[in-house]
Amino acid sequence: MSQNKNNNKNNGNDKGGDRCSFCGAGREEVEVMFQGMNGANICNRCIANGYTIMEENQMVGQKEGGSKGPVPLKEEDLMKPRQIKEFLDQYVIGQDAAKRYLSVAVYNHYKRLMHTPRKDEVEIDKSNVVLVGSTGTGKTLMAKTIAKLLKVPFTIVDATVLTEAGYVGEDVESILSRLLQVADYNVELAQRGIVFIDEIDKIARKSDNPSITRDVSGEGVQQALLKILEGTIVNVPPQGGRKHPDQKYIQVDTRNILFICGGAFDGIERKIAQRMNTRAVGYGRLNEDKIDRGNLMQYITPQDLKSFGLIPELVGRMPVLTYMQPLGREALRSILTEPKNAIIKQYVRLFEMDGVELEFSPEALDYIVDKAVEFKLGARGLRSICEAVMMDAMFEIPSEQPDKFTVTRDYAAKKIEKSNILAVNQQS
Ligand code: ADP
Repeated sequence: MSQNKNNNKNNGNDKGGDRCSFCGAGREEVEVMFQGMNGANICNRCIANGYTIMEENQMVGQKEGGSKGPVPLKEEDLMKPRQIKEFLDQYVIGQDAAKRYLSVAVYNHYKRLMHTPRKDEVEIDKSNVVLVGSTGTGKTLMAKTIAKLLKVPFTIVDATVLTEAGYVGEDVESILSRLLQVADYNVELAQRGIVFIDEIDKIARKSDNPSITRDVSGEGVQQALLKILEGTIVNVPPQGGRKHPDQKYIQVDTRNILFICGGAFDGIERKIAQRMNTRAVGYGRLNEDKIDRGNLMQYITPQDLKSFGLIPELVGRMPVLTYMQPLGREALRSILTEPKNAIIKQYVRLFEMDGVELEFSPEALDYIVDKAVEFKLGARGLRSICEAVMMDAMFEIPSEQPDKFTVTRDYAAKKIEKSNILAVNQQS
């Protein structure tokens, strides 16, 4: 150590002693020798070796939190649509139609990225997706699950914070700041990412008459979004938020970024019904009989998105339109217990950590589902109902440490009646 310090002071004059602290090679034997703290040295060969080992262990370009570095896309990594759907099945109950559409969209996105077309070859268009479905049907869950298996940067942004330039709120370009952040500011990587824009319905025009509505959050934002969805070069403020004149921008080309837009589109069933009724007049009652009135969402078309208040150009830029089914009793019951990280499995695991075996009677589970149906919050309600049921137990059980604890229907009903969850949901 002391000898090394000396070497440092000599600043490389004593070349024989200036050796790599890892392989022992002398300065004259290698191309570059890097000096570190306290007289430590490392040669370029050892750095190259270290890098190779990291590459072999897939540690290069990986960042904590799952965001991916510049890993080249390889044909063998490409999951087929059926495999993508099977992966989604582990986490998301039902929603077959949406899963199929999304699996294909993601697969095609990858294929587009891997094959840059030569001059006279067919160019594959980007297929941005719209996912329509009421709250708590799993839109965000679906997007997050897709993110788990992707090897491209992925981010979720909320359309409600976006406003037209010049108003209070975030510029539409800030969507891309988020993508840049997860890509570690690697522009190339961000340019092939996927963005999930949630609550896209909230930027719909508030009235059917375009001439009287130039609202802050509506059409102007849609126009700005349109450019980004179409594919353009955008000046992105690296930290997001508002643009200001002295800021440095990063240029991002959005041509290869895939956008998945999700929204509840509350009341769109009425637009669908209206359209179908008008058509039914012309085609007689035969069609009418085949219509499943209980689930109109399955008949959604781009025209309905326009009637809802999205501008036609934007609708045109999201050619893949699919829907999420309202979750029925059976689906809600499965969601409680079946997915890989189902809510009930999470409570069982929590209690297991205290050495307590937790069990829910089937009647208790039915009761929780009944309440979720009553509150009309989709699967979103399940979590808050379970929390209300389990609160007291989670407080007491760690101290009492019984061997086993069973949640019965009576127990669950008592806890729900006592909690204010009933009052809150009856009000709304
Ligand atoms: P949305 O984005 O449609 O409002 P979320 O994806 O946020 O709904 O769903 C809320 C919660 O409900 C999720 O965290 C998940 O636990 C559960 N959930 C919703 N839909 C499903 C589903 N189809 N399968 C499994 N869990 C679901």
